[in-house]
Amino acid sequence: MSFSSFGNKFTQHSGITQLMDDLNDGIRGGDDVLMLGGGNPAAIPEIQQIFQDKLQQLNESGELINALSNYDGPQGKDTFLNALATLFSDLYGWGISSKNIALTNGSQTAFFYLFNLFAGKQQNGQHKKVMFPLAPEYIGYADATLDENVFIANKPNIEDIGEGLFKYRVDFENLNVTDDIGLICVSRPTNPTGNVITDNEVIKLDAIAKQNGIPLIIDNAYGTPFPNIIFEDVTPIWNDNIILCLSLSKLGLPGARCGIVIANEKTIQAMTNLSGIIALSPGSIGPELALPFVQDKSILAMSKDIVRPFYQQRAQYAVHLLQSLIKVPGFKIHKPEGAIFLWLWFEGLPISSQELYQRLKQQGVLIVPGHYFFPGLEEDWPHAHECIRMNYSQSQRDVTKGIEIIAKEINAIYKYP
Ligand code: PLP
Repeated sequence: MSFSSFGNKFTQHSGITQLMDDLNDGIRGGDDVLMLGGGNPAAIPEIQQIFQDKLQQLNESGELINALSNYDGPQGKDTFLNALATLFSDLYGWGISSKNIALTNGSQTAFFYLFNLFAGKQQNGQHKKVMFPLAPEYIGYADATLDENVFIANKPNIEDIGEGLFKYRVDFENLNVTDDIGLICVSRPTNPTGNVITDNEVIKLDAIAKQNGIPLIIDNAYGTPFPNIIFEDVTPIWNDNIILCLSLSKLGLPGARCGIVIANEKTIQAMTNLSGIIALSPGSIGPELALPFVQDKSILAMSKDIVRPFYQQRAQYAVHLLQSLIKVPGFKIHKPEGAIFLWLWFEGLPISSQELYQRLKQQGVLIVPGHYFFPGLEEDWPHAHECIRMNYSQSQRDVTKGIEIIAKEINAIYKYP
């Protein structure tokens, strides 16, 4: 048996595969494994209760079985598309209609469609790339293209902002958008760092994308208005040249696999055609369950009053504990501005973050070594091997125990105090 080149490319052991394997191993390992590695959102009891009540109601009214018994169209459930268009138009005055929105089976699928729509081999033979203007970036983007060598990433400027924190900024001086770039993509808030690029940075990226006649993807999986795991005031932005990707996952429904793409009509039509071929139609359960909350706009209050405070408190707790237990020189945390991770930087770390990952795994703590989060960066940047990502949103018990083990290991490596 031999695989095609597609088969060989998509069966290689990618960073995301390792992450999913670890998650599975962690789950099989039961309570002994402290899962600070994966991207699973927290199970927030109030949110789970709200969804459980709604599911029961939809079940009793027959709407649930109705949704399960029918295919939606390839663009996704009409009622949900209309409700989303109204929500975004009312909130931000974007003047969009359902023709500007497509659903996918999780936003991960949307990135696969979008990267391959705009990058890779073109009809004229040219090879176009996806540019990440601010590395580190989301591990799930890596490998999500049919062609090889599709990503290019720009190193950030690193700003020390005091109190043991730092912040990455887009290095516009070295951002070279050459004519082989087909798409710019940035997550806001960023997985893995918790960075939120500023309004000013977004405006500049938008202008650069327009000047070059290429789209700008803003991956809003953690952003505003839902799930709103964002601790900075930001202005949501969309126009004909921006492709805004959202998801129901981090609101608490990762199993629903519902991604939402807002873009110009041509891009949405292309996504719809792709969806028809690859998936027939996106799943209908997420849209059915979320529909009433979008229609009555209560999804906004859920996000603002329950989801955001939950994560913000957990982030503050973890930062405080890390800073009180790890005193080694060169330890800094990226300012937690959103998303569900903390990005820890051990400047001058005597071992690689991969080795640190292995040592922590042996002690039952799963984190992710930093170097996976630099897809498209051409150089092997030492900084990438000095950072780790940890999910701060798991149970307080797990986060506390996990941080204690990380601190002990780090202090031992540095022979501190
Ligand atoms: N974008 C970012 C930045 C993420 O962290 C994730 C998941 O962790 C996704 C997109 C994909 O989410 P989903 O496919 O569940 O919508």
